[in-house]
This record gives sequence, structure tokens and C-alpha cells, in this order.
Amino acid sequence: MKLTTRILDLRAARGGFRIAREHHTTFRHLVVEIEHDGAVGRGEAAPSAFFDNETLDDVLQSVETARGLLGDDPFRIEDITARLCRALPKAHAAICAIDVALHDLAAQLMGVPLWRWFGLDPAAAPATSYTISLDEPEAMARHAAEVAGRFRVLKIKVGTDQDDARLQAIRRVTDLPLRLDANTGWTAEQAVETINRIAGLGIEFVEQPIPVARPDELRWIRQRVDVPIIVDEDAVRAADLPALVGCVDGINIKLTKCGGLREAVRMIHFAQACGMRVMLGCMLETSLGITAAAHLSPMVDWADLDGHLLIEDDPYRGTTIQDGRLVLPDGPGLGVIERQA
Ligand code: MG
Repeated sequence: MKLTTRILDLRAARGGFRIAREHHTTFRHLVVEIEHDGAVGRGEAAPSAFFDNETLDDVLQSVETARGLLGDDPFRIEDITARLCRALPKAHAAICAIDVALHDLAAQLMGVPLWRWFGLDPAAAPATSYTISLDEPEAMARHAAEVAGRFRVLKIKVGTDQDDARLQAIRRVTDLPLRLDANTGWTAEQAVETINRIAGLGIEFVEQPIPVARPDELRWIRQRVDVPIIVDEDAVRAADLPALVGCVDGINIKLTKCGGLREAVRMIHFAQACGMRVMLGCMLETSLGITAAAHLSPMVDWADLDGHLLIEDDPYRGTTIQDGRLVLPDGPGLGVIERQA
């Protein structure tokens, strides 16, 4: 197998993307391409300072180490990813890119779309939410009004001490259900007070209300509110999930934080076996990363796969959105193609 890499310089749409603890305008991702028997599989690494503290340089270095560990059979993905996780325990964005590229490659060599290989019905793909980045209340309401006609649900970034005004402003312009993501921004007391105050505004669930590694506080919140509580920053990999059972209603899985499709499937199965609901989410990513996650979306309850809509000049085309729902490509592998410049 021949592995090559390509750096993508990306820019957030609308001048930037803000959550409770960070603001992004430009960022760099790495695309891994693995060639074998005339086919090329691709995967995207979206490194995050929050998860594993990975930088683009770390990803480049990890991919160089991984190059020597691939072997020559793209179908041996379980063995390959296990080797990579042992050699590179803190390199989940890099491992994700390789895992996705191998799945793309193997499915292309079999001539089937990835969803078909996983045994899934593309018609069962859920609607995706569209994310409104943190801003002044009126700016968030204008953004919501602009996109509301194209989506069935909106995800609203919150996690400050002035979230009521934001939600009320958005509620004045749309009746769509709202998912809230506090990105660790509240205390437990603040979470209970805020959620109970705004519960009547049509809130589908609240994501990561408080900082990570406080499962007892999550349980305490969950006992005091009627809105489902799910976690994202707390649910990085399958090994994180046992501590969350009984403390939350669901989890948000992202390929780039867990290390790719194989770990994501492991997390989905574990969570569902324990009665937790599952969302597939994303970072700001191109259609390459988003489409990989979309192929698993028929397995889950909720999708938040809008990262490609939140960047300028997406270099790829893959999953599309029709009437708010994800439409999975029919082509072999990921079915992702490069956009013509
Ligand atoms: Mg989140």
C-alpha cells in the first residue's frame, strides 16, 4: 500500500466559528491517501487542541510512524488499527484519517458503498442538525432565520451566563426543535437552573453542560431536569463509556476524536447495549470527514453532521442534505469526489 498526504488550508464560513471556550477562523487538516491495486482511499485528520492536544505537525509525524505499520493488505483493518493504537496512543485524528482511508479503499476494491458493507439502509439516515455558532442574540437569530427553511432541527451553541436572551431571540424567528451545546461552559447548578428556565422553549436535549470527568454531577443534573442530557467532550472513546452509564441519556461520537469508523462502531454498540442514545457529530471538516461519519448514521438516533457547511470552499463532494436529511452517496467506498476548482 502506498500512503501519501496532502495539507488542506481551511477557513470557517461567516468569518469564524465560536463555542463557549474557543474561536476558530482558519485551520489546517491533513488528508491521507492510501493506494492499492489501482484504487485510492482517502481520510481526513482534523486535529484538535482539546482532544489529545494534537497539532497538524503531530498528525504528520504520527502518519510517518504509521506508514511502516500498515502492511500490504487493506482488508486487515482490525489488525492495522490495533497496531496503530498501540504505537500511537495519543494520535486519534491521525488514526482516524488512516482508518477512514482504509475503509474507503477496501470498500472500493469490493465495489460497494461503505453503508452497504456495514449492512445499513441509507433510507434510515437521520436528519442532521445545523449549528448556530455563539454570537450576540440578534446575530444568532438572524443566522437561524436564514437557514431554518433547509433543516429540521438546529443546534445552538450556548454555555455562557447570557444564554436565555440568545434562545429567546432564536425562538422568535423559528419553531424548529433546538439542541443546545454548552461545550463544558456551565456549572452543575447553573445547568439545572438554566435548563429548567428554558425547557419550555422546545429543547430536544442539552449537550455537555459541565466540564469533563464529573459523572456524579451529570447524574445530579439529570435527576433535576426533564430535558435529556448527552455528553461529547466526556465521551471520547469506548473506554470512557462505562463511567457514564446511568449518568447521561446519550453520547455524541465523532470519528476524529475516537480514531475512526471501527472505534465509532464499538462505541455505538456499547452505548446502545447500555440504553444510551447516540448522536454522530463532527468538527469543522470537509465533505471527506463528514461523509465517512454519514455512512454510519443509519445506526444512530441523531446526526450533527454539518461541519462541511460551516467552512468555505469545501474541496470535496460527498453526502448531501435533502429536506434536512442526510443523503448517502451510492458510489463505491465513501463515494467522495474532488470538486473541480
Ligand atoms: Mg459538542
